[in-house]
Amino acid sequence: MTLEQSEYLAIKEKSVLGRYVVNKNIEGFLEKIKGKFEVKMVGKSVLGLPIRSIVIGTGPIKILMWSQMHGNESTTTKAVLDLINYLDSDLPKTQTILKSCTITIIPILNPDGAAAYTRVNANAVDLNRDAQQRTQPESRALRNVFDGFQPDYCFNLHDQRTIFNVGDASKPATISFLAPAHDEIRSVSPTRSVSMKLIVAMNMMVQKQIPGQVGRYDDTFNANCVGDAFQMTDTPTVLFEAGHYADDYDRERTREYIFQALRTALHVISDDKVSEVNPSDYFLIPENQKRYYDILIRNAHIIAPSLKKGDAIGILYVETLNCGAIDFVPKIDKTGSLDGYYGHKTYNCLIDSELKALKGHSTFAKLLSTF
Ligand SMILES: [Zn+2]
Repeated sequence: MTLEQSEYLAIKEKSVLGRYVVNKNIEGFLEKIKGKFEVKMVGKSVLGLPIRSIVIGTGPIKILMWSQMHGNESTTTKAVLDLINYLDSDLPKTQTILKSCTITIIPILNPDGAAAYTRVNANAVDLNRDAQQRTQPESRALRNVFDGFQPDYCFNLHDQRTIFNVGDASKPATISFLAPAHDEIRSVSPTRSVSMKLIVAMNMMVQKQIPGQVGRYDDTFNANCVGDAFQMTDTPTVLFEAGHYADDYDRERTREYIFQALRTALHVISDDKVSEVNPSDYFLIPENQKRYYDILIRNAHIIAPSLKKGDAIGILYVETLNCGAIDFVPKIDKTGSLDGYYGHKTYNCLIDSELKALKGHSTFAKLLSTF
């Protein structure tokens, strides 16, 4: 069962909103909960910022979650704060989770990347390609927590770009899941099967809220990726990717759906229902494709005479940090027929009202003047 929206809104951590989430944004939250749950420093970033973890619950089943390994991927951080508030509430069955599980959450693993709004850390290293060598302090911090805690489950929490759709359909991939591979042939070990079962259970629940908007991420094996590396240790690991929901560039809706997925996973685990799920249903979740533009202008030859008749312009936003907020700066990614592509916003220049709306949009005037 999903949590009713009114119940969700009551536990939503409203002090942290939008896309730019850094250490100092969550300090108030950590201060609020530290009398109830253990908050500790588990490492320092390249630039010396603290990496913190929160430990919740007292049960024997150990679950490790980390978010913002990629600094500009904050949606799941907001979702885990909501999850902590949920576990701190008197809503039904939260006590079951707290008594059967011990949950360690690292909300911001890459605080320097978060501050700079970059995927990489301050040494320009992608921490999700550093799982074996662990050249970076953030990678070592995560591995130390993993080695010390010895989790039964790992949740690897990310955002994905707006470009992803589900299968061949025009629905955006609002959430994508992956049961990471642990070998080159992507075999289904008992461990990986458990990851798949959790995903199937979460998918069944979130489909009720966002039908057709859940995708399956590419499972190409890479031992340098953290999820694959943990799966290799026989720890069931799930990759979560928070994606686009219509008109939700702040990802506040997606945040709620990620929360619902996390909540479902915890209930399935604490109710000892994982074994009842059919793992092969995992493969029924359509794979992601990259077929979306933020803005798609059809029949753009009408406003851009250098294009061929019927050509389209595909525009993607570049997320740019500007005085503590994120600007979405439109940039032309591709022109051509762009058949089979979709736009989160589409203008067809053959339709007068859409052409008028496009021309009235000041942001595009400069962009389109290049033609
Ligand atoms: Zn990521």
